[in-house]
Amino acid sequence: MKEQLDFNAFRGADLPDEKGFFGEYGGRFVPPPLEPIMKEIEDAYEDIKKDPSFIEELLYLQKHYTGRPSPLFYAENLSKSLGGAQIYLKREDLNHTGAHKINHCLGEALLAKKMGKKKLIAETGAGQHGVALATAAALVGLECDIYMGEVDIYKEHPNVVRMKILGANVVPVTHGLKTLKEAVDSAFEAYVGDPVNQFYAIGSVVGPHPFPMMVRDFQSIVGVEAREQFLEMTGKLPDNLMACVGGGSNAMGLFSAFLNDESVTMYGVEPAGTSFKTGDHAATLTLGKPGMIHGFKCYVLQDENGEPAPVNTIASGLDYPGVGPQHSYFKDIEKVKYETINDKEAIDAFMQLSRLEGIIPALESSHAVAYAIKLAPTLSKDETILVNLSGRGDKDIDYIVEKYGDGLGIK
Ligand SMILES: *Cc1c(COP(=O)(O)O)cnc(C)c1O
Repeated sequence: MKEQLDFNAFRGADLPDEKGFFGEYGGRFVPPPLEPIMKEIEDAYEDIKKDPSFIEELLYLQKHYTGRPSPLFYAENLSKSLGGAQIYLKREDLNHTGAHKINHCLGEALLAKKMGKKKLIAETGAGQHGVALATAAALVGLECDIYMGEVDIYKEHPNVVRMKILGANVVPVTHGLKTLKEAVDSAFEAYVGDPVNQFYAIGSVVGPHPFPMMVRDFQSIVGVEAREQFLEMTGKLPDNLMACVGGGSNAMGLFSAFLNDESVTMYGVEPAGTSFKTGDHAATLTLGKPGMIHGFKCYVLQDENGEPAPVNTIASGLDYPGVGPQHSYFKDIEKVKYETINDKEAIDAFMQLSRLEGIIPALESSHAVAYAIKLAPTLSKDETILVNLSGRGDKDIDYIVEKYGDGLGIK
């Protein structure tokens, strides 16, 4: 597999436009002092993505550091037990650091380094983005500040230790509710304080232009590989694609290689949490309305005052009241179907995949697996489903045992 990083080949109807819009979504709504900095990042990205030495370096790291290509696995036991469509898994859980996030963190870290930046900064909730970014920073030799709410620092202790071992500086955020939203505010404030030496590495296909485009392009390797592997293994394209949607990066990564394949139906799976009441879920595309968040336009879960609503899901990586602008556009034009899976269904899928295939999925990925489990029996045996298994579940096992161990008989 060579030439996998032809970033222009999979843009999907040439999106976004030159202002960063996907239909009416996306764009760049930042304070005036940040505008030239964002433009600098956009220009630098446009240059390096055509630069053979950058592409070569990234391909080298993807292969020898991350371990790409990640395998495509036919989940035969699961498929047989459901008695319908055949289910295949794209094993992003087998990447170094255990999820797809390393794909865009490496890209962003290399870009920052080429731009002469000294420090990567980001916020993190559960710590997954923080760990992936701290890893990339260590590798390319940049400083790294990760902003994290005090409540999350306490809850996510193992990831905090990981970041520190990797050499990152974990900055506690002590105001407000001391969780993800406050961490975003603090990281943003720190960034505005010195945007020349720092690079704000956004963790999904969200934020102001060029981030939704850039993160998607770095994740497109997932779809490019999966498409080729699936054709090689089965001689056909998959009939259905499935991926969980938090901000939407693993889903865009998979979908982007199939946008011109009319026969492929794409499903984005959102977390329905404990109920469809505001505050109980994070099903942004399903229940939100167009609005503005963190410098771009997208579907947003809003409270009665139009402010971003509180969100809730068992999968902390899906816990965001906004969503990528390209997903917002794909919802409106019905290019992708967006469905929901609740906490209970996700936990059942987590156990089922573990027991039937010996693969413990991340709770985020379990949402995509759960929707495949729901859909497969309604399809015929010669139809296929390709699920993006975005990450491994090692990070979730203590939580599962503590909260559900009794009921599952694993305490
Ligand atoms: C962060 C995370 C997600 C959600 O992020 P997207 O940008 O929607 O892909 C999904 N799965 C895993 C394993 C994660 O760590």
